[in-house]
Amino acid sequence: MNLIGNCRKCGSCCFHLNICEEGRWLSSPRKFKKFVAKNPEYKRLKITGKNESGTLNLSCTWLKSDMTCKDYDNRLDICRDFPEKMAFYEKGILPEGCGFEIISKRNTFESILKKQVKREKKLHRWNNFKNWLKKKALALTWSWRKK
Ligand code: SF4
Ligand code: SF4
Repeated sequence: MNLIGNCRKCGSCCFHLNICEEGRWLSSPRKFKKFVAKNPEYKRLKITGKNESGTLNLSCTWLKSDMTCKDYDNRLDICRDFPEKMAFYEKGILPEGCGFEIISKRNTFESILKKQVKREKKLHRWNNFKNWLKKKALALTWSWRKK
């Protein structure tokens, strides 16, 4: 997977948050409470529901009506990293309208180019081999005729 695009500063991710702790997405209010006890700075988040995968959806109370952060310099780690790879390697989903896009590595320009180069090289080797074989066959025919 690859991430392309850039932040449009729409604020959408601030009310579509999911938290991953040690490789597991928080899926219950009890787990979120335990998480907040260990990480009090996350108190600013409120549970808004669950997504289709059963992961808790959270919204931040620090988001102002103009869609900017109340204290951007002291934003959470998940805000600094968003949308990090974790967001899509597991159950995270990018919020609608986000300026970033997740694309499959198989479909990137570089990967298609690499595959094409590999194919061309293979074809080139095969053509060389065919030419060598032709020359060899000609040489053999020539020496047989001379006998
Ligand atoms: S949802 Fe995407 S585009 Fe909008 S603020 Fe968050 S990272 Fe930026
Ligand atoms: S701390 Fe700021 S940037 Fe992070 S979710 Fe809240 S409002 Fe958004």
